[in-house]
Amino acid sequence: MRTCSADAVSLTLRVAVSRSTALAAALGLLLTSALCPAHTSAGDVASDTVSARMVLRAVNSRDAYLPDQIDFINSLLRFSRTVTVLSEVEEGPLFDPDTQEIWMPGSFADVIASYFSDDETAPIADIYLHTLVHEVGHVLFSQYDLPLLAREEDAADALASVLLLEYVENGADVVLNAADMFGRESEHTDDYEEADFWSEHSLDIQRYYTTLCHVYGSDPEVHGHLVNDDTGLSEARAENCEYEYQRIRRAWLELLRPYLKR
Ligand SMILES: [Zn+2]
Repeated sequence: MRTCSADAVSLTLRVAVSRSTALAAALGLLLTSALCPAHTSAGDVASDTVSARMVLRAVNSRDAYLPDQIDFINSLLRFSRTVTVLSEVEEGPLFDPDTQEIWMPGSFADVIASYFSDDETAPIADIYLHTLVHEVGHVLFSQYDLPLLAREEDAADALASVLLLEYVENGADVVLNAADMFGRESEHTDDYEEADFWSEHSLDIQRYYTTLCHVYGSDPEVHGHLVNDDTGLSEARAENCEYEYQRIRRAWLELLRPYLKR
């Protein structure tokens, strides 16, 4: 399997920026500023004794922020095997444990935009980051054979909530935008089919409420406004969110301790 070196990754980043659309550049800039406190350059990462890392094979103008997001993930986590992120693919987002590839198709940006009124307001970068960290959950389960006490998809969602809320400056906004996307996907579901219930994923509407609950539970004082009729997060549900979030936070941070760089 072909992988890129650290230099190749940094080269890809430069090409990506020069080819990016105004929207992608703006979103990328926003995200870069949010990630900057935690940002580690490709050079720093290359000096690590561990050579396994996440690399990007290609990038297109619709997902020009992937290089920064991958830098963030490399600055945070140790991998035991190199993981390759592919954007020039048709299927996904998905993780293939056999090839250790994450497929993040460029068309995913269009799918996200289609759920929002227009391209300008679609939080494409945030949803890419949430999705990428969710896929990283599958990578970690696979590489370290981590014990799972619930469905893997729910665990990956919980891991995305914890890593984004704990390590990204505007992580709550990122996670809320992901919840918003789940809610919008749910609204587009006219009829549930049998497959929705046997799917390994929870229903989109469940992912919406659970994700909202994580954000609220991470700091009920700051996020008290999330409990209202508009969001649908009831006081009865919210009551347990702080406990739930603390449980997943402790579980993930302890389980990942050997693999976290900070
Ligand atoms: Zn998944």
